[in-house]
Amino acid sequence: MKKETLLYDKHADGKVQCHTCAHECVISPGKFGFCETRTNVGGICYTLIYGALSAEAIDPVEKKPMFHFYPGHPIYSISSVGCSFKCLNCQNFHLSQVKGMKDEPVFDGADGMTMRLHYKSPEDLIKSVEESKCKLLAFTYNEPMIWLEYIIDVGKIARKKDIKIVLVTNGYTTRKALDLMLPYVDGANVDIKAFDAEFHKKVCKVPDFKPVLDCIKVLHDNGKEVEITNLLIPTMNDAPAMIRKLCEWCMKELGPDVPLHFSAYHPDYKLDVPSTPPETLVEARGIAQEIGLRNVYVGNAYLPGSEDTICPKCKATVVARQGFSITSIKLDAKNNCSACGYPISIVGEAKKSSFRFF
Ligand code: SF4
Ligand code: SF4
Repeated sequence: MKKETLLYDKHADGKVQCHTCAHECVISPGKFGFCETRTNVGGICYTLIYGALSAEAIDPVEKKPMFHFYPGHPIYSISSVGCSFKCLNCQNFHLSQVKGMKDEPVFDGADGMTMRLHYKSPEDLIKSVEESKCKLLAFTYNEPMIWLEYIIDVGKIARKKDIKIVLVTNGYTTRKALDLMLPYVDGANVDIKAFDAEFHKKVCKVPDFKPVLDCIKVLHDNGKEVEITNLLIPTMNDAPAMIRKLCEWCMKELGPDVPLHFSAYHPDYKLDVPSTPPETLVEARGIAQEIGLRNVYVGNAYLPGSEDTICPKCKATVVARQGFSITSIKLDAKNNCSACGYPISIVGEAKKSSFRFF
């Protein structure tokens, strides 16, 4: 649905400048921004995706991945279309890489694929979440930071109903947009695609990743539960020196408890290098642990034990995971280790779960 955007300037020549994400696009009349979802109509900047949903599902929160935020809980997950990146390996390119967007429920998306959107008002969305019995809501699958106006309106109602909001994001946003969103966001999984600007230029088609680091810092410093994902693509961002830099930044800026997920790449969309071998994931995890990070996980690959949360003091397994299931929990009611009493950095109640439930 078309709605005037919150963060933009009008220029004297009829162009508009959008400040929703770090591209800060200057958009001529009749044209779209980089994300292809915001457009200039007669000197006014409109989003075309307000309340426009491409998918609704109930996922395990571990799938986001969020391992330290209400472990074992289901999370109502929604998406729209568009993204501020154009990653060559995007697994959700049919949602993220739209072109020729119209203020209509059906249009041709990436590679001529037919896109179908349905409209849900913030009130109706929260009603659906309540009916599902989920206490968590994720904006995911495509890039949520470009869905600013809808997230804020949904967030206002979610706050009254005690529904927690999670963003699964590339973090390529602006301080102005974050400041508007912060009151309504509880947690985020932010991708650091690589600790390297050249990678971002070549693979994601954005000039730099500094806005991503800035976003992570702001979320963290404002007390949000932040988890980091780094998808390792062979020969492109898996050099030990680059992984080390990323881990050192996490350790210095976010502290030893920040959950870090190394994820295995598999060929998709326009990128066709071989899948990530398990040895690379093991090596990356070893580097992170050597630097002092305590909650380092491996995803998209089966490496027994690499998804478990371990007590930093007595080394007991406090949350055991298998795939997206929680198979055992050894925490007291305050999320202290049941064996030694050490406080584990987990937000919210942890509960056992089986992915078959989902
Ligand atoms: S959201 Fe980002 S990419 Fe989209 S128009 Fe605004 S600044 Fe450009
Ligand atoms: S940031 Fe995520 S959704 Fe956007 S293009 Fe990259 S992989 Fe796809």
